[in-house]
Amino acid sequence: MISVDQIIHAKWLIPVIPENKVLENHAIAMMDGKIVDIQPSADITMQYQSSDVVRLDQHALIPGLINAHTHSPMNMMRGIADDLPLMDWLNNHIWPVEQKWVNENFTKAGSLLAFAEMIRGGTTCFNDMYFYPEITAHAAAQTGIRACIGMIFIDFPSNWAKDSDEYFEKGLQLHDQLSHHPLIQFSFAPHAPYTVSNEPFQKILTLSNQMELPIHIHIHETQDEIKQSQDQYKQRPIERLDAMNLLSPSLIAVHMTHTSQHEMETFARKGAHVVHCPESNQKLASGYCQVAELLDLGVNVALGTDGAASNNDLDMIGEMRSAAYMAKNVKNDPSVLPASQVLSMATINGAKALGLESEIGSLEIGKYADITAIDLSHIETQPVYNPISQIVYAATRNQVTDVWVAGKQLLSQRHLLTLNEKEIIEESQNWRDKILQG
Ligand SMILES: [Zn+2]
Repeated sequence: MISVDQIIHAKWLIPVIPENKVLENHAIAMMDGKIVDIQPSADITMQYQSSDVVRLDQHALIPGLINAHTHSPMNMMRGIADDLPLMDWLNNHIWPVEQKWVNENFTKAGSLLAFAEMIRGGTTCFNDMYFYPEITAHAAAQTGIRACIGMIFIDFPSNWAKDSDEYFEKGLQLHDQLSHHPLIQFSFAPHAPYTVSNEPFQKILTLSNQMELPIHIHIHETQDEIKQSQDQYKQRPIERLDAMNLLSPSLIAVHMTHTSQHEMETFARKGAHVVHCPESNQKLASGYCQVAELLDLGVNVALGTDGAASNNDLDMIGEMRSAAYMAKNVKNDPSVLPASQVLSMATINGAKALGLESEIGSLEIGKYADITAIDLSHIETQPVYNPISQIVYAATRNQVTDVWVAGKQLLSQRHLLTLNEKEIIEESQNWRDKILQG
């Protein structure tokens, strides 16, 4: 008998690689944070022993969901202003609140609220972009959730950094401090083509090549952005970034609405990744990303929620459903983006975008044990003909019961094990009161 740290038995196991495969009555053996074996439950019981054996007889195990684009501290602005176009929403609501209130404490409280929400919804890894990234990074490390932290850059001063030099200096300092942490990765995060000028883009490109780090950026969020770029630079945003050699397998481009066939082909040729945020795009009436075309061209498309101020939740199960429905409707074809493919977008495609596909994104031997368990015994998901269909088209995130990151359990029977739920709620209410009082 081989001793392992933990064994999880489950009714269904959906490894994601290969896509659309469902294993019944299987178990995972975990050791030192990694998956060491996956076999039928009876075989695991014969070969392995552990003092920690979990039996999930009504559940499906999936790889932990990867939220490939969010702004976790913005959870503190959830519902502060809705039903407005992007630039009105940003200029007259979000940016003034940020200017007045965003500091270390705000960022920490917002980040913890986001982590609690994400873990309870089955998300084990998130790709973040926000001010005070050091606060989010340390909070994530302490919570035990996996994170890719954006070293944000924007042409304008913020409470966090007064000028271009300070953005770079503070971001790189944080990278140096935490670059060896097993759960924390980094990216360069220039906010968007309309908020970053050519010179910092060149510097980011040089650093990204030297340090082998991805570049996480909003591109083509709205049609206005394209028009503004044509007025200012005589180029469409993608054309401009391409001219600066920014399109590469290191680029993680978020939104990508209003793209031409030529632009999508360029993305495919250059190997750049796309993050689709269907709910944020729909809520802001920004348009849609042509996911089916991009996937057909071989572009890696991951899925993100965007921040809670524009979504308004960090619910990757809901986002999968929205992505599937939107793609079918856009193409007028119900066969587009089947459930199994949308589950890949929310897991392995996110891992690929972050350069982590050899470590996470599927349930395979040798990968980290980043695992989400979903209870399908609820009325709402009965009967179970196909667990992948139930998860994407019928389940809600409230059916997520247990979550592990690198073999460490963060959620047990819906209880957060590394975060204090009561404190997080109290702190959120305190911030709301403060912001409302002005
Ligand atoms: Zn965003």
